[in-house]
Amino acid sequence: MAVRLLIFGRQGAGKGTQSVLLARHYGAAHISTGDMLREAVANATPIGLEAKSFMDSGCLVPDEVMLGVVEERLARPDVMAGGFLLDGFPRTIGQAEALLGLTPIDVAVDLVVAEDVVLERISSRRVCSSCGRIYSVSEPPTRAWICDTCGGDVVQRDDDTPAAVTKRLGAYTSETQPTIGWFDGKDVLVTVDGLGTREEVSARLISAIDHARHA
Ligand code: AMP
Repeated sequence: MAVRLLIFGRQGAGKGTQSVLLARHYGAAHISTGDMLREAVANATPIGLEAKSFMDSGCLVPDEVMLGVVEERLARPDVMAGGFLLDGFPRTIGQAEALLGLTPIDVAVDLVVAEDVVLERISSRRVCSSCGRIYSVSEPPTRAWICDTCGGDVVQRDDDTPAAVTKRLGAYTSETQPTIGWFDGKDVLVTVDGLGTREEVSARLISAIDHARHA
């Protein structure tokens, strides 16, 4: 049956990498609102132009803009066929309420990693500017900063500056933590420890999601 999943996690908790693996595992569409916005910025679409200054400063893009983006994406055929895994949405209670007006959710996962660990991971994070694949200074691509998957340039994200990171973590605490609590109140939240190797965390996530789906 098609899955309807959400994944929460602070910047640098490994949410991006894990959500791609999870979507593949469940045959669901991987929907990262951050990736969609970065593509809109790169293509200078009206949404990209509106979102860029919010993103560069580490602020949240207004709910109305985000809701339009997500509603349009959820209506596409791949979502109808295999379900979805939303990565980076919802980030506010307003977004969460609007989402549940569009679709039910099976499981919301909170991938938890301590703040000092995420700060260290973000400063070493590097991303392919073409396909979005994530690397780090300690796990670089095989050829110097050329993506192993698509040959694109692997760079540091524009918003991975210390000031923007601090702002994003602040928005996470003030807006997204209460949103996670809101899902807990709806009995769809599972919490998963994000410390460990990619394989360990991935296995932990799948086991927690399967358990919650069949509970
Ligand atoms: P991410 O790649 O998920 O870290 O998102 C990068 C940036 O895109 C965030 O810092 C926000 O400026 C914006 N963004 C992504 N998703 C959302 C959302 N659900 N609500 C508001 N802003 C978002």
